[in-house]
Amino acid sequence: MKIIGLEEHFVTPDLVGYGASTESIAQPQAWAEASRRLLDLTEERLATMDECGLDVQVLSLNSPGIQAETDPAAAVAKAATVNDFLAGVIAEHPDRFCGFGALPLQDPVGAARELERSVKELGLKGALVNAHTNGMYLDHPSLRVVWEMAEALDVPLYLHPANGADTSHVFTDHPEMIGPMWSWGADTATHALRLIFGGVFDDFPNAKLLLGHMGEGLPFVLWRLDSRWGFHNHRGIELKRERPSEYLRHNLYITTSGVCSPAPLLGAMLALGSDHILFGTDYPFETMRTATDFLRTAPISEADRAKIAHRNAESLLRIP
Ligand code: MN
Repeated sequence: MKIIGLEEHFVTPDLVGYGASTESIAQPQAWAEASRRLLDLTEERLATMDECGLDVQVLSLNSPGIQAETDPAAAVAKAATVNDFLAGVIAEHPDRFCGFGALPLQDPVGAARELERSVKELGLKGALVNAHTNGMYLDHPSLRVVWEMAEALDVPLYLHPANGADTSHVFTDHPEMIGPMWSWGADTATHALRLIFGGVFDDFPNAKLLLGHMGEGLPFVLWRLDSRWGFHNHRGIELKRERPSEYLRHNLYITTSGVCSPAPLLGAMLALGSDHILFGTDYPFETMRTATDFLRTAPISEADRAKIAHRNAESLLRIP
């Protein structure tokens, strides 16, 4: 069975520094190991893919990437450089790698242009966005140009976590919960809901959002979102599709990255349908072997397994 992974990270020596704010989250040995693997694209990575039967990695720059840059012009230049680098890696191994571009969202028009260049000239499959950009989220009015371009190109934007713009009071005295174990998922789910209530999918009804980590919990709250939206003061917000779940079923695609457990997979399949679930490993923060073994042994039909392993990715990303 062909397997395509959609959350497969790398970094370049030039851009390692942007990850410094994330370093304190991890145990030192685990961080050192992940950092080494992020920098390797073709040695250990390809060998491990072969061992685990992971045919294709859709590569993305590791969080937070150039979104940590505060100078818009520098972000534009660095995005172009890293996307050119990524296209070069893919060109050397076109049957093993695809890629999501990095966008200089600090310059919204520049980001839309870089998305267009990434897809049309470099052959990338969309873009991966690491949470907020200097406190700005993807529902910001200035970033409608990026969604407009994504919809026109018919490519997804993959919303991936990063450290929050600030720290919620509820984490006071509990820094151990800040990071991928908990706070990143809550932040990312909230960011995704901003896109719904911020009107992004009303303005661009065919825009496609990817979330990792089995949908950051959102598949499990569709009914409650609809029920409470019916109760809440809408504060002037109108949803063309009326119910929040309609957007999560229509515009959202999720990957299994970093969640190798049958119960949430089955729940997500029941909530969203198997056509909207794709495989990912979250390499190098999870082992490829754990992820591919989970996919091969999950208690689902062979038809659903093939969709999640490769068919949905081939369709969504137009991989031949
Ligand atoms: Mn990840």
